Amino acid sequence: MTGTVLLASNNAKKLAELGRVVDAAGIEGLTILGLGDVPSYPEPVENGATFEENALIKARAAVAATGLPSLADDSGLTVDALNGMPGVLSARWSGGKGDEANNDLLLAQLADVPEARRGAAFVSVCVLLTPEGEDAIGRGEWRGRIIAARRGANGFGYDPLFVPDDELAAGRTSAELTPGEKDSLSHRRKALSRLVPALRALAATD
Ligand code: IMP
Repeated sequence: MTGTVLLASNNAKKLAELGRVVDAAGIEGLTILGLGDVPSYPEPVENGATFEENALIKARAAVAATGLPSLADDSGLTVDALNGMPGVLSARWSGGKGDEANNDLLLAQLADVPEARRGAAFVSVCVLLTPEGEDAIGRGEWRGRIIAARRGANGFGYDPLFVPDDELAAGRTSAELTPGEKDSLSHRRKALSRLVPALRALAATD
């Protein structure tokens, strides 16, 4: 028995994280494809108001274009002192100028915010949608705080500014964790782990 799932993400680093987490779940008989394995299709406009809506938009576009069961994730950083922003706008917070500019802007916005009020969370929502229209959804949050200057070279996005609350991370930013450490703690791992039963069911269907 074997099933197929398309990981519908164009972000190579995010895709690698998703792939590793699905691999680590050890689901037998599941072929994992990326967008490079299927004919290209136009990226949908992510204009949802929530992570859930955007993940569903991406999963629907993937299923419509490929006819394959598809897993999409929408994620971002929610900062307490910014009332939950940048949230769904995380990737384009500086107007589409990229990760470095996003981090500079966030640092400037929090410049006068004291340590005690620099709490934040990464959030990931993963949606698995089949061509039959069945969906499963998982949400994961990773609490931490935003520091005053970048540290670390791993990961992507806001990782150099985010120190997770987890004891295992012990003051390191998520950009200072090894990929394996980040995988074991991250919002994406938590969201995906909730989809493991649906992925197992998919593996057993073909
Ligand atoms: P998406 O590709 O629309 O889900 O946008 C996700 C954006 O949120 C990324 O471009 C990053 O700015 C931020 N983000 C999400 N997850 C992470 C993470 O694990 N580390 C750092 N930044 C993240």
